[in-house]
Amino acid sequence: MIPMVDLKAEMNILRKPILKAINEVLESGQYILGSKGEELEKQIASYVNSTFAIGVGNGTDALYLALKALNIGQGDEVITTPFTFFATGEVISQVGAKPVFVDIEEDSYNIDPRKIREKITSKTKAIIVVHLFGRAAKMDEIQEIANEFDLKIIEDACQAIGSEYKGRRVGALGDIGCLSFFPSKNLGAYGDGGMVVTNDRKLYQKLLSLRNHGSRQKYIHTCIGINSRLDEIQAAILLLKLKHLDVFLHNRKEVAKRYTNELANWLKTPAAIESREHTFHQYCIEIDERDELAEHLKAEGISSAVYYPIPLHLQEAFYELDYKEGDFPITEQVATRILALPICPFLTLENQNKIIASIKKFI
Ligand SMILES: *Cc1c(COP(=O)(O)O)cnc(C)c1O
Repeated sequence: MIPMVDLKAEMNILRKPILKAINEVLESGQYILGSKGEELEKQIASYVNSTFAIGVGNGTDALYLALKALNIGQGDEVITTPFTFFATGEVISQVGAKPVFVDIEEDSYNIDPRKIREKITSKTKAIIVVHLFGRAAKMDEIQEIANEFDLKIIEDACQAIGSEYKGRRVGALGDIGCLSFFPSKNLGAYGDGGMVVTNDRKLYQKLLSLRNHGSRQKYIHTCIGINSRLDEIQAAILLLKLKHLDVFLHNRKEVAKRYTNELANWLKTPAAIESREHTFHQYCIEIDERDELAEHLKAEGISSAVYYPIPLHLQEAFYELDYKEGDFPITEQVATRILALPICPFLTLENQNKIIASIKKFI
């Protein structure tokens, strides 16, 4: 079976230095909040061009802590997209605020700025922008709305480290950016991990405290926080992988280019959108006979996946928000037609040809 992402292939290439890095941490005796984590925070800040970075336990916590740092909670509303991983909406409810969804753009699958204004109320405090699948969202238009209504912008860049919007890397474009190092993400650890980035010193100091029980000085607690820290072993692995990230992203883009060259005449492939780069955490096509194609591929030994089959507004967990089918027509239509093909820096030419031939055969 050709997998969606070949994490073993990557590990086999990096095995030696990774074992060495892990061993260094084991010998150091320092496993949480140590020098590796600090070094990674420096390097990620420099990579996304933010002033500060704070290592946390995972991408979901990064989003949760971002909302907390901005004092968002009970009685507040936060605007976001219904076409994303569940965590984006989940954290809004976790802090006690209300998720308010806005439909997506057909070509990018990102939140449609033209539809945001009509959802803003006196309770709206922030917009969580998701750079879905690695494609940068329409930041200038969103920033303009945020300025007009005095809203904060949180970037969910969990799928998009290294993606550029008008030549600037995502994550540091809004007030707070959130990254995930879940193993299958474009920069993945061998366990959970995440990072919050910001240019604001006050938010930085608050986040340092929030991720560690509201404490920056041992046994002195200035607010209620959580326990969400990036461990030293994951930080050491990520430091090593970060060196390869640009090459890995380049390889993803090359794989995507071949898919598009071969398939664009037959089905909907990711559009080229000026100044909104795509780093292809997922390469998604659209086709009416989506389920049949997935079955066909499976029978030929090829994995595929649906991101996301049920939009957030139709999830049982958000039942109380009172949304119904038909509320977000573009999201709902895309959810029935979208299919992600295998993509990773280690997809061989041979396997890619096999996937392309199999899709053409189906059509
Ligand atoms: C992966 C992901 C998250 C959550 O990250 P975890 O590290 O798995 O907690 C949040 N939002 C999006 C869009 C993601 O893809």
